[in-house]
Amino acid sequence: MKQRRRRRALSTRPLGNVAGHFTKDGGSKKRYRTQAEARSAAQLSWTLNGVDLESYRCEHCHMWHIGKRFRED
Ligand SMILES: [Zn+2]
Repeated sequence: MKQRRRRRALSTRPLGNVAGHFTKDGGSKKRYRTQAEARSAAQLSWTLNGVDLESYRCEHCHMWHIGKRFRED
């Protein structure tokens, strides 16, 4: 039996739990393979820009991203 999986285009808006994967513009954030990589990138951002970011595991791509904590502003 053949079963085809349809691939969904990523043009739809992400749901809440995958929002961390996307930038505000709707693109994908930079991915890191390990938490260590993400953390060092966050540290660099702190050093260069004074922006405090945190690393988190993405539920969408199962890799690591860095960003601000999600808040409903
Ligand atoms: Zn992701």
